[in-house]
Amino acid sequence: MVFAIIPAAGRGERFGGKTKKQFLGLDGVPLLIHTLSVFQKSSLVDEVIPVVNQGDQSFTEQMISGYALAKVKKVLPGGDKRQDSVRAAVVLLEEEGRPGDIVLVHDGVRPLVSLEIIERVIHATEEYGAAVAALPVVDSLKLVSKENEISKSIPRENVWAMQTPQGFRLGLLGEAYRQAAQKNFIGTDDAILVVQMDKPVKCVEGSVENIKITNSEDIRLAELIYRERIHRSMKEPTHDRTVL
Ligand code: C5P
Repeated sequence: MVFAIIPAAGRGERFGGKTKKQFLGLDGVPLLIHTLSVFQKSSLVDEVIPVVNQGDQSFTEQMISGYALAKVKKVLPGGDKRQDSVRAAVVLLEEEGRPGDIVLVHDGVRPLVSLEIIERVIHATEEYGAAVAALPVVDSLKLVSKENEISKSIPRENVWAMQTPQGFRLGLLGEAYRQAAQKNFIGTDDAILVVQMDKPVKCVEGSVENIKITNSEDIRLAELIYRERIHRSMKEPTHDRTVL
């Protein structure tokens, strides 16, 4: 089985505004629905598990029922931190699944992930046990003080920016979450919890289009990418507007 956990329980504090960013519209459809739809369309994914704020659970269930998202069987309540939200789903999957199953974790606010990236991560996870979508950093990196002054350069060779999806064998991810809880270790993504156990995590090619909607400008950028994809797909002889 291949499960996709979609953490979307963030409060969107960096974003401002009344609507949480995972529910903002992109071409009239909530970002979270866009994200879930890509996983729904992947023939390699069996079940999709969104995790949202407890207070948003029934609203999200209602929203999802308005779309053709049959792989979503349940919506789980999240926690204070992203790690708590993902852990809620991992704990449940350990009861339902098998250690060899594959679990993808993908941010609900990365609606422009492609089928190709999802499938690349799944194949690499099958081969290596843990794999993430990522990109080598191209900008110069500097350590900057609180006063915004540069203190030194950080060598960028071998530095990659992590994206999602991140894929793991269920047994490995479950153990990583247990050990992180024991050690009170909080990471910014899932891969680091596995790395903490000295287990290898393979990086596979992500995409500059696979942006995380963090600020209000990101929505404008997402709209541009989305429209360009529609435009491109309409030019193809057998275009399917729903598969972007
Ligand atoms: O902003 P951040 O990088 O923490 O968010 C990444 C993803 O994790 C978002 O989709 C967000 O909704 C989700 N998240 C969560 N539970 C939290 C915080 C963030 O599911 N408590």
